[in-house]
Amino acid sequence: MTFEFEIINKFFKKKTSVPLGIGDDAALINKNSKEYWAISQDTLNLNTHFLPNTPAKDLGWKSLAVNISDIYAMGAEPKYALLSIAINNKSSNWVSDFSKGLLACAKKYGVEIIGGDTTRGQTSISISILGSIFKKNILKRSGAKLGDDIWVTGELGTAALGFAYLKKKVRLKKSLAKSSTQKLQKPKPPNIRTKELYKYFNSAIDISDGLVPDLTHLIESSNLGAEVFSKYLPVNAYIKKNKIYDLALYGGDDYELVLTACKKNRNVISNLAKNGKIKISRIGKITLNKKLLVYDLNESPIKKLKKGFTHFS
Ligand code: ADP
Ligand code: MG
Repeated sequence: MTFEFEIINKFFKKKTSVPLGIGDDAALINKNSKEYWAISQDTLNLNTHFLPNTPAKDLGWKSLAVNISDIYAMGAEPKYALLSIAINNKSSNWVSDFSKGLLACAKKYGVEIIGGDTTRGQTSISISILGSIFKKNILKRSGAKLGDDIWVTGELGTAALGFAYLKKKVRLKKSLAKSSTQKLQKPKPPNIRTKELYKYFNSAIDISDGLVPDLTHLIESSNLGAEVFSKYLPVNAYIKKNKIYDLALYGGDDYELVLTACKKNRNVISNLAKNGKIKISRIGKITLNKKLLVYDLNESPIKKLKKGFTHFS
């Protein structure tokens, strides 16, 4: 367990009166007899979550997108958000661009900004978000069933590649440099709701810290294990060619979803993917052995898995 989660568990995790409290991508509050409110909050801090030269418009987009991702990870529909922003010596152009990005994201995903707080301080953006969900459709981290297929949306490791490029750790062709920094700076969480897809799945988590740490949260919540095969991971041609699968396993900031579904739904999910309804790949299965086993490209189990992104490390 990382220090971050030790802090949460030791000091903040108390018994609550709500249907679901600390420990999932969002908490749940009863809305009426059939629906919940899913509520969540995510913060982006300068230098921890974004580089100083991040375009303000992208930052505005990302601040909301990372919150929408947590709401989607519950199978819920994002509705309302509150924006708390600390600004230090920023020009009004910067704020204008930030708001344009934020509002473009809000429009695309059908979210209304209904409040917030504006202060002076080291640049930091914190958004609280509310989403709505029918109780029967909820996707909890704890919902995985033994034998479930593990699915992942989109492409993994691309945001980490973009980060490596911005930190001058890799040199990339112009088009790949652009697409990978876009994936890092302007993530687009996959909307499994509109595709009527959520009904096929048992559990979900979004990938903010990396596939390995986030899938570990899911199996720990479900009291089960998992096996994942590197050869099935959806990665771009550059990662595949250079065999840098660590980017896909441990790279944060992808904001894709890991979901699990009964084997009987495999064909219908594969067909939706084939018909271009959603980009989704099957990467492994849920097991009884309560740990995460990742097979490398030679199909040997990786002996010691690394950590993904962790605060305080
Ligand atoms: P995510 O990556 O999905 O945003 P986190 O890893 O940040 O989730 O948090 C894990 C869980 O701990 C979430 O349910 C979150 O609401 C809760 N949590 C995090 N920090 C605190 C805190 N300071 N007080 C109470 N709950 C917290
Ligand atoms: Mg999350």
